[in-house]
Amino acid sequence: MSRSRNAEPAPPPQSTLRHTHSHPEADADSVCANHSPAVGLAAAEDYCRARDLRLTPARRRALDLLLSSHRAMGAYEVLEGLAADGLGSQPPAAYRALDFLTQNGLVHRIERLNAYVACPHPHHAHSPAFLICRSCGVVEEAASSAARAALANAASSGGFQIESVVIEVVGLCPTCIPTAASEGGPA
Ligand SMILES: [Zn+2]
Ligand SMILES: [Zn+2]
Repeated sequence: MSRSRNAEPAPPPQSTLRHTHSHPEADADSVCANHSPAVGLAAAEDYCRARDLRLTPARRRALDLLLSSHRAMGAYEVLEGLAADGLGSQPPAAYRALDFLTQNGLVHRIERLNAYVACPHPHHAHSPAFLICRSCGVVEEAASSAARAALANAASSGGFQIESVVIEVVGLCPTCIPTAASEGGPA
């Protein structure tokens, strides 16, 4: 396993450093979260075209896999999908596609899981919190503006300068709560 490529992490996109949300009517943290993979792919194509970004077949396939899964997927899982389509058989193929998608806001990296999820609304600048189901692995984006503001206040009152904030919340999704209870959770 060569995870040493992360020895020098690329600087995170600006939007994760500073929350500059300015979409009064579209606090995307709550809208358009139910796009189908086809809708998501079409939106990504528009998004890339508008920005002169190349959505190569491998990048497109990697995004399709993530849009279809709703779970976070590791790079090796994405690589299996690429390999099945003849789009690459070595890990760098997956990492290059995922790096492109992450850097351009189409995909988020979940630090805790060392895995990736498709962003349901890349066209809105945002810094989401992630709600991670520990049972089924589903990851949802949630609004984090209030939490980030509270952290910014707490930090500045202590003279601390925030450079990056990662909010990843672990718990049980609505589907898994009943199962967990019947498996002898807290009585
Ligand atoms: Zn997102
Ligand atoms: Zn779940």
